[in-house]
Amino acid sequence: MNIFDQQKEKERKINQALSKVKHSIAIASGKGGVGKSTIATNLAISLAQKGYKVALADVDIYGPSVPTLFNIENDEVRGEKKGEDYFIHPIERYGIKLMSIGFFVDRDKALLWRGPMASNTLIQIISQTIWGDLDYIIYDLPPGTGDLQLTLAKEFHLSCVIFVSTPQILSVSDVRRAVNMFRHPDINIPILGLVENMSYFSPYDMPEKKYYLFGKGGGDILSKELDLEILERIPISENISPANDNGNPISLDISTLESRGFLSLADKVVDKLDKITKENL
Ligand code: ADP
Repeated sequence: MNIFDQQKEKERKINQALSKVKHSIAIASGKGGVGKSTIATNLAISLAQKGYKVALADVDIYGPSVPTLFNIENDEVRGEKKGEDYFIHPIERYGIKLMSIGFFVDRDKALLWRGPMASNTLIQIISQTIWGDLDYIIYDLPPGTGDLQLTLAKEFHLSCVIFVSTPQILSVSDVRRAVNMFRHPDINIPILGLVENMSYFSPYDMPEKKYYLFGKGGGDILSKELDLEILERIPISENISPANDNGNPISLDISTLESRGFLSLADKVVDKLDKITKENL
């Protein structure tokens, strides 16, 4: 097979795997550690709670976190051969179909991958997964810009990107670089907006009080300078990390204050994506 045929075959497999997916959302960030996986996970859960069919694909080679966040580190991925092709079943938890680079490689090895190897492996994983009918697939991207983000943006027919940042932005350049990549005319993927994570702290017994531990207005600076709507401000919560570490993300309990922010984010994502889809019809 020559290189053009190989490319066509790759595209055919991706299109086939994602043929019944209505919307694809990438969660991106300029830097690591800002809560990108936390937002991707809780958004997925909130969308599923609203009755949508949802999948979460964890393609963050620098820190695949889905296995921990969903407490499926010891689960085995099942495979199936159909003719010449080999397919894999996503693991289902809390009504969400899950796939993670972390199911296949340990973190230290994935980190050593060079661009093309990482991109090819991801394409293979996504195109061999049996996704089935989905309303939303959410990709938890690696932070920053690189071959991998570029491959995903180009090959996976993303409907939109959501950026996650924290208020203590020392420089907007990391986020700007990533935003510009998605806005490049050759890529041109709509950016739905920005989630300001760890925005403020409110004590449980005084929910009306807001303490801006990391400074106030970081999200507004990004929003203004990069023309991004702030979709939601998620507070710092002492409950989020333990919930993540125990594999029970905070949104699973809809009585929590934290889950309200994610449900509200889910509503905005549904509305805005519907509008984008109608505009493109
Ligand atoms: P990223 O995917 O950007 O690397 P993570 O989602 O892994 O970031 O979050 C980094 C750390 O911050 C984790 O320990 C997570 O539990 C914690 N965290 C994320 N968001 C919040 C929040 N709003 N309040 C408190 N802790 C948070």
